[in-house]
Amino acid sequence: MASIFTKIIEGEIPSYKVAEDDRHFAFLDINPAAKGHTLCIPKKEIDYIFDLEPNELSALTKFSQNVADGIDKALKPIRTGIIVEGMEVPHAHIHLIPIYKETQAFSLGKKVDVSEDGMIKLAEQIRQNICL
Ligand code: 5GP
Repeated sequence: MASIFTKIIEGEIPSYKVAEDDRHFAFLDINPAAKGHTLCIPKKEIDYIFDLEPNELSALTKFSQNVADGIDKALKPIRTGIIVEGMEVPHAHIHLIPIYKETQAFSLGKKVDVSEDGMIKLAEQIRQNICL
């Protein structure tokens, strides 16, 4: 059965998309740890990120770097941190979490409330600042 993230890539489940290329997709996490919390995924459905071929992991990392650059330009956090865990959704993904202050808790799980309109605007702001 297709993973929830494959369904998002295929548009069966809606998402706040921020970027896409032929091998990757990026969208806002629905339980944001911070405003602009973004997930970067390979279109190839694979559970464990370190089961990707080295060139695939490298391409996902480069894609995530470009998305993080867009987040930094759009939202101006101190920096954007990354978390790779994958205990909930069995489809490899990199969490990009903007850090707005040094005391900000840095872990997964919903920590901010963002309205639907807010999510749409955040995705649009990030999308406009990404150069793939
Ligand atoms: P992990 O597998 O690394 O623990 O985290 C999975 C992440 O996927 C969680 O932060 C969760 O909020 C997010 N997530 C789960 N289902 C959906 C969904 O349907 N849409 C979006 N945008 N994010 C999801």
